[in-house]
Amino acid sequence: MTGEMTKPIRTRFAPSPTGDLHVGSAHTTLFNWLFTRHHGGTVVLRIEDTDRKRLVERSLGSITDGLTWLGLDWDEGIEIDEQANPLPDRERGDYGPYMQSERQELYRQSAEWLVEHGHAYYCFCSPERLAQVRQERQAKNILPSGYDRHCRDLAPEDVQRRLAAGEGAVVRLKVPLEGVISFTDLVRGEIAVDARTLEDAVLLKSDGFPTYHLANVVDDHLMAITHILRAEEWIPTAPLHVLLYRAFDWEMPQIAHMVLLLGTDRKKLSKRHGSTSVQEFRANGIIPEALLNYLAIIGWSWDDKTEIFSKEELIEKFDLDRVKASSAIFDHQKLEWMNGQYINHILTLDEVTARALPYLREAGFVTDDTSPDYVKTVVALEKERIKRLSEVPEMTAYFFTPTVEYTIDALVSKKQKLTPELTLRVLAATRDAVAGGDVADLAGMETRLRGLADELGLKAGQVFMPIRVALSGRTATPGLFEMMHVLGQETCVARLGAAHEWLQEQGAVTAG
Ligand code: GLU
Repeated sequence: MTGEMTKPIRTRFAPSPTGDLHVGSAHTTLFNWLFTRHHGGTVVLRIEDTDRKRLVERSLGSITDGLTWLGLDWDEGIEIDEQANPLPDRERGDYGPYMQSERQELYRQSAEWLVEHGHAYYCFCSPERLAQVRQERQAKNILPSGYDRHCRDLAPEDVQRRLAAGEGAVVRLKVPLEGVISFTDLVRGEIAVDARTLEDAVLLKSDGFPTYHLANVVDDHLMAITHILRAEEWIPTAPLHVLLYRAFDWEMPQIAHMVLLLGTDRKKLSKRHGSTSVQEFRANGIIPEALLNYLAIIGWSWDDKTEIFSKEELIEKFDLDRVKASSAIFDHQKLEWMNGQYINHILTLDEVTARALPYLREAGFVTDDTSPDYVKTVVALEKERIKRLSEVPEMTAYFFTPTVEYTIDALVSKKQKLTPELTLRVLAATRDAVAGGDVADLAGMETRLRGLADELGLKAGQVFMPIRVALSGRTATPGLFEMMHVLGQETCVARLGAAHEWLQEQGAVTAG
């Protein structure tokens, strides 16, 4: 479903560089992207940087970096070579410039055209007056609650004189004083608004920069955008945009509003709920496939049960007819579950290893000297349990550190009914048994250690637990014999010996 489809589809991502890529923007962007890719259309990346007060340096690089990491590419628009560079280096496409700050002349001309044709007017009211009027109207519940249209009917000669004298002015849209303004939302159906509730919105500010309304409409038209897919929070601006398209006598693109992401408490997604920027998810070990997949099933569903989709499947299946205007909960735990699904079952061992590597490097566990095969065998042991890549260093630390640490309680397991004396015997005997065997022969080593337990008159667990703790410092690890194999004969023997020595010292201290 695309509404009326006569022209090749063109959509746009229109981020404002006001910070990192928010997961909500990523969500809308993904829907634009899937819709466009499904229909073989063109995606435009346009930067809406006209609100100069809200600009954040380096935000642009961070946004494009986040999009690229998620695998969302664009066909036209700005290109940034270096993430560190806050300004675009190049542009692609025939509809540029794609940075709104470089299109000021177009907006100024458009605003003047609207004034000349009676659709807009200059307003000279001071900020103080506007604030006062707003307050009064709100207190008395007068609609529209903001501006009182004080300058709407100034005599043209007056306006010219004041402009010529250099008086500061904004350009405002002449909203009809009554009637209903309606439009069709491709997801929500007909939306109608009483014109009396709409303020004469500012189109051009006194600093010469356009507002969102003017720049957005002018650019969507000039860039031949056919479908506007944007977040729900923009619905209130749509009637003004309808009026602008009418005033310019331009065909309005099809429009649809996507759900706003909510936390599990149904409040707008914010820091309180956990990570909100794509960068944070990335740093926390979420993989792009999982985030993309999870975002796709918020506000869209294929059959109400399938949850795992590859990017290719999404492109094939996604369309607006299955986009919903409800249920927009973003649940961090569900994302983590999905991330685990990808790491445990979908990505190959090579892929998981390659992606875990930066985290292991950052923790200082892996350097250029570390054997890639060793890292891979370590990751293989934990692959089934990893939920986030960032957990990998913690999970696998004992494979990379020269020694391990433990507590008496861990080593002398009460659960296994061990005493320090018994544990010392087990450690000494197992060290010799391991030294005399071959950890590469997993079955052989198991038989040997089970035999040892019999000889000592102990249960297998009573022998295995001290070994596990001595080798890893933990009471829960991957399979004991797999772990021994990866650690290698020498390390196992050394760690069993070290644990024995350590426990003896502890005994000496306690006894003393
Ligand atoms: N610049 C707006 C934003 O940052 C774009 C809204 C739209 O898609 O029209 O969300």
